[in-house]
Amino acid sequence: MTTYLIEFSYLAASILFILGLKGLSHPETARRGMHLAELGMLMAVIGTLMHHEIVSYEWIIAGLLIGSTIGAMMAIWVPMTAMPQRTALSHAFGAFAAALVGIAEYYRHGSELGQFKMSAIGLEVMLGALTTTGSLLAFAKLQGLVRGTPMTYRGQNVFNMTLLAATVGCFVYLIFVPTAAPFFYVMMGLAFLFGIMLVMPIGAADMPVVMSLLNSYAGLAAAATGFALSNNVLIIAGTLDGFSGFILSVLMCRAMNRSMTNVLFGAFGSASPEAEALDGQQGTMREVGLEDVAVQLAYANQVVFVPGYGMATAQAQHIVRELAAILEKKGVSVKYAIHPVAGRMPGHMNVLLAEANVPYSSLYELEQINPEFSSTDVAIVIGANDVVNPDARDNPKSPIAGMPILEVDRARSVVVLKRGKGKGFAGIENPLFFKPVTGMLYGDAKDSLTKLVQAVQHV
Ligand code: NAP
Repeated sequence: MTTYLIEFSYLAASILFILGLKGLSHPETARRGMHLAELGMLMAVIGTLMHHEIVSYEWIIAGLLIGSTIGAMMAIWVPMTAMPQRTALSHAFGAFAAALVGIAEYYRHGSELGQFKMSAIGLEVMLGALTTTGSLLAFAKLQGLVRGTPMTYRGQNVFNMTLLAATVGCFVYLIFVPTAAPFFYVMMGLAFLFGIMLVMPIGAADMPVVMSLLNSYAGLAAAATGFALSNNVLIIAGTLDGFSGFILSVLMCRAMNRSMTNVLFGAFGSASPEAEALDGQQGTMREVGLEDVAVQLAYANQVVFVPGYGMATAQAQHIVRELAAILEKKGVSVKYAIHPVAGRMPGHMNVLLAEANVPYSSLYELEQINPEFSSTDVAIVIGANDVVNPDARDNPKSPIAGMPILEVDRARSVVVLKRGKGKGFAGIENPLFFKPVTGMLYGDAKDSLTKLVQAVQHV
């Protein structure tokens, strides 16, 4: 009977995970998808707790209490803008757990393992170990604990490839000779080292892509754990996690017009000599006054808001919505342009604007809004930089050449809200700020928008 209950809860959990992922594919259903996945996780935990091999619950309950407390504190206090590094930490913990299970299984049954179980345990420890150290380094880079720029040295790719080959070599040898314990521990050590070496040359700008790739490895490590422990829900959930993470990495690369190899081995973010030479040679920026912008907005037919990372740090989404409502009352058509990699995680802008109750029908994706800029009176860029950089379109030598951008420079007037001359995530200059059509409104985005709301009401 208990076995049936366990299998039923695992089946229900797997179905809920799949429905959850489906829900996450659209902003309107994302919240429901998240709740379904949470319910799925609860079912999986309950099913596991019913397992007859559990001899005592004290340690499990202690672990549940400590883990849930830490998780709840992180969910409550970590700001949205720090979500990538929070996710990196979660991956590190998840992958470390998978690696530890694999190490324990090998320690207990090493001499009796068949080829299939050895392959599963080897894969679990290898992927788990490299994901642990890789994710910890990604966390440190994103949090600014270590330098975010790529750390490179001569022969780095050759060294990394040799290290990977040695790790995989140990793994393959173990499949044929599972009793060769020294090879197991060498493989584990090399995999931990490889995780660091893999992430070292990757700049902070590419870290979100790397994060979702590490997420994919952690998922595959969990799936391998499922094979090692003969646990169906781990196999299904791990595979879903592994492949959705991989697809997400590919989609992010596509949105930045970069190849996966370029992200992993391109040391992107260390400015090229050409890009550095261009810096500071763009002319002067034209500053605009608040009253001037308010008049432009109040008399416009169409205004497009272009949010970016700065809107997230300023938490300006609510005041954007307020300004939009005032403009709409004055008969202005208001739209929001959403770039797929604006902010610091996929869907970042959608989440923030949904939180401020901006209707989904006002959100326009890149392909939908770009043809509209030429008939837009004012494009208001709110803390966005790289995603509106015309160099990606016009300058083949730019490090972000080919990345699809929101073509705000085609609007009749562009107003950029930012605090100063800070660069975007890619660390390069933006010619948009020097174009005659562009006016700079300096200050924190939330402060500027609050003042704009008052000014527009008096026009
Ligand atoms: P961005 O290029 O990082 O630029 C953000 C701008 O916001 C900065 O220039 C900064 O200038 C301004 N800013 C910061 N705080 C502000 C505040 N409180 N008020 C007003 N302005 C503020 O942002 P983005 O245009 O959204 O581009 C996202 C970048 O992340 C892209 O390079 C993208 O490739 C990368 N990325 C994103 C993802 C993803 O999943 N979303 C994944 C991978 C990579 P000041 O300092 O002068 O204010």
